[in-house]
Amino acid sequence: MIKLLFWIVLLAVIAFVIGFKRGRPTPRDNARPAPPPAPRLPEHMVSCAECGMHLPASDALPGRGGQFCSAAHRAAHEHRLEAAEAARGRRDDAAT
Ligand SMILES: [Zn+2]
Repeated sequence: MIKLLFWIVLLAVIAFVIGFKRGRPTPRDNARPAPPPAPRLPEHMVSCAECGMHLPASDALPGRGGQFCSAAHRAAHEHRLEAAEAARGRRDDAAT
């Protein structure tokens, strides 16, 4: 009975070792370098119409009067444009 158990355990260990070796990746698979990432093309830069900071065109916010680095700068610039237009309108009204 003990001999039978010994053989069963021995066969199980051999089967486990064979299965483990087949499942492991070979060293050649690990040594293969990863494919290089796709080269990034240079991106067009624009400057903020409010503060002049340069930023990638894809990050810029379009607005009246140009491109902006943030919504706050766009709002400030457009607010100043509207104030200037209102002042010009008042001046035109006073001249006529
Ligand atoms: Zn800005």
